[in-house]
Amino acid sequence: MNLDSGLIEEERVPDEVYERFLSGVGLGAYILYRDIPGGADPLGPENMLGLVSGLLTGTGSLVTGRWMAVCKSPLTGGWGDANCGGSFSPAIKQCGYDGIFFRGISEKPVYLLIDNQGARLEDASGLWGKDAVETEDYLEQKHGGKKKPSAAVIGTAAEKLSLISGICNDRGRIAARSGCGAVMGSKKLKAVVLNGSKKIECADRDKVRSLSKVYAGKVRKVKLPGLVSGNMLALAGKLMGRLKMMVALDGMMAAVPLLKKWGTVYNNNLGVTSGDLPIKNWKGSVIDYKRSYYKHLNPDLIIDREYKKYSCYSCVIACGGICKIGDIGSGAFEETHKPEYETCAVFGGLLMNRDRESVFYLNELLNRAGMDSISAGNTAAYAIECYENGLLTKEDTGGLELTWGNSEAITGLVEKMIAREGIGDLLADGVKKAAEKLSPEGADFAIHAGGQEPGLHDPRLDPLLGVHFSADPTPGRHTIGSGQYYLLSHLWEEVSWAPRITRYAKKDEYIPSENEALKAVAQACYKQVIDGSGGCLFAALSGIQHWPIFRWLNAATGWDKSADEYMEIGKRIQTLRQLFNIREGVDPGKFKIPARIAGYPPLTEGPLKGKSVPIEEMVRLYWHYFGWDENSGAPLEETTKELGLQQMQ
Ligand code: SF4
Repeated sequence: MNLDSGLIEEERVPDEVYERFLSGVGLGAYILYRDIPGGADPLGPENMLGLVSGLLTGTGSLVTGRWMAVCKSPLTGGWGDANCGGSFSPAIKQCGYDGIFFRGISEKPVYLLIDNQGARLEDASGLWGKDAVETEDYLEQKHGGKKKPSAAVIGTAAEKLSLISGICNDRGRIAARSGCGAVMGSKKLKAVVLNGSKKIECADRDKVRSLSKVYAGKVRKVKLPGLVSGNMLALAGKLMGRLKMMVALDGMMAAVPLLKKWGTVYNNNLGVTSGDLPIKNWKGSVIDYKRSYYKHLNPDLIIDREYKKYSCYSCVIACGGICKIGDIGSGAFEETHKPEYETCAVFGGLLMNRDRESVFYLNELLNRAGMDSISAGNTAAYAIECYENGLLTKEDTGGLELTWGNSEAITGLVEKMIAREGIGDLLADGVKKAAEKLSPEGADFAIHAGGQEPGLHDPRLDPLLGVHFSADPTPGRHTIGSGQYYLLSHLWEEVSWAPRITRYAKKDEYIPSENEALKAVAQACYKQVIDGSGGCLFAALSGIQHWPIFRWLNAATGWDKSADEYMEIGKRIQTLRQLFNIREGVDPGKFKIPARIAGYPPLTEGPLKGKSVPIEEMVRLYWHYFGWDENSGAPLEETTKELGLQQMQ
């Protein structure tokens, strides 16, 4: 879809492309690498935005209903992507497409409507300025009939080109990362509304369903003993932080029941006591954010507010929920999606905040504005530390007393960021841009990787997280891999070259080695397969021995590929994302995490006391085992040849 001219074109993608790149992130990388000219301005007409469904979505497979947004990222200047669940991924396919791609910039605000009559652009001038939920409600009412349409929309943050804005669907759920929302806003594209009812193809639906039946049966069966409480998780975190040995647990027994009961907030207190949850802009520990603080975000108190559980399309885990919101903020909101762990962590421990009500309020505020809570919270933490060090004054903040844990000031700051008002304008583009404008003196505590604020899991507890934060073509991502995810994935049971690990000494994770590098490579490849299929990371945590993604792919497509062959596809996608960055002049070495979060200097107290991660050497080995130059991170010629990518260059 060309928004300059309003021209809509259809492309039939050859089967061979799906065999090499799957759909989702892979198809997105293939099209964007091919069609975005090198050096394009991320917020200019040459940049493209793709909304792409997963290959497995709608085939009858389970927990495979996520869609991907892809673009050149205005945050990092390189490859950008983000994904979200809900109902939008199958809706793309029900319109007869795998992906919808936009280039150009519309003269006035528009939205794209696709239904069984075809695709057309509609005027969205009256919607500009409305938040994500208001927009969706309006579009649903206008275009809904017997069937409810599904819409991906932007809120006001993306309209104002905040580089930390995302794209929302299902009333404020958000594909938050990489600044994809700003790209959509720059195109003056307010929404994409889908209301098709075409049949989704599947080669062997019976086979897919029989695999699904087994997986669903297992998920339904597992549950936690009734007496397991949020307080017990805090104790478990204490123990985990002290473990000397790690063992490969069965994720169906370990991770799935926790997600079923609490959703991701199960990690709220466990994360604090184990050291996983970063405290006080990554410089503190549970000694600072002690029990009298963290008890307010006890997962039991979060789900006390949950009055309705929900799941994304095709999901049997159902980690989502809708919570009643208290009498807080402007009082404008009655309910919100259950906050994710990341939102609780970033507006809890990272800012030393213990006011639960403000977390619920900020959750809804950010979801409606379409601003990434991880980025917004990390940016607020940076601002507080600037205030602490005299780089920002009360005059600069418009009267806000920006101190740790001051929930009123934190809320006020985020409101200003969304409105781009006063100090909020400086902060609305994330940590990196704010630090560039503010002062070189704050560089040490400007926490980002290549422009992207990191997810709320600490590499000093799990060093492989630091590798993915630093080496992924979309840096700062907590969803690519970690030592813990690897153990739960059980990849070695199907992938011949993935290191078989049943137990190991925790200290080995801090020593750069072939084994650690191969674990990281395997996770990165696997995540591309998941994102090409529409899969959810949480299902992957149940373990490959339970969640049969490779077998579903064969059944749904009629292919007969081995797990190793799918991992090769993952490697191809990951390498193409890296090639995109190289072509855009992005130096992969610049994605390295800041010294503070790698443990230089190490913390002097708490569970991460004395922990440092030799990140440069670990990244160098990761690049080496990926077949990328170990000094520059650029894919080697022999690797691009082997993956059949040389014709793309
Ligand atoms: S596990 Fe949660 S996030 Fe993942 S698909 Fe299911 S409901 Fe959605």
